[in-house]
Amino acid sequence: MSDCLFCRILAGEVPSTEVHSTERTYAFRDINPGAPTHVLVIPRQHIENAATVEPDHGEVLAEMLVAARDIARAEGIHDRGYRLVFNVGEDTGNSVPHLHLHVIGGRKLGWPPG
Ligand code: 5GP
Ligand code: ZN
Repeated sequence: MSDCLFCRILAGEVPSTEVHSTERTYAFRDINPGAPTHVLVIPRQHIENAATVEPDHGEVLAEMLVAARDIARAEGIHDRGYRLVFNVGEDTGNSVPHLHLHVIGGRKLGWPPG
């Protein structure tokens, strides 16, 4: 997917600040952070969004969640808590059509989100 921004980040064509990397996942800092920690965990394979996930994506999905936990520990927010978000569709402002898990924390987060 040469026209996909996050595939281009994976290819090193667009710079990013790496936070974590595994065989099937990559994580980098959000360019417009909404909290002291705001990291995006993405699969190395192109999956459009959480609504297009299928059962055979199970392994990479689990790897994304394990990555998120490891990132939370490394960022020092694991014990205080953090939020994991998949945005899907227009009403959420979902802007990049490559699955990404937001890992957000480091301050009190309101609920429900705005
Ligand atoms: P979405 O709204 O689609 O769930 O989240 C997309 C996220 O990607 C946004 O939080 C936005 O700030 C971030 N983003 C968009 N373009 C770039 C980029 O080129 N680099 C990085 N690091 N983050 C980006
Ligand atoms: Zn992609």
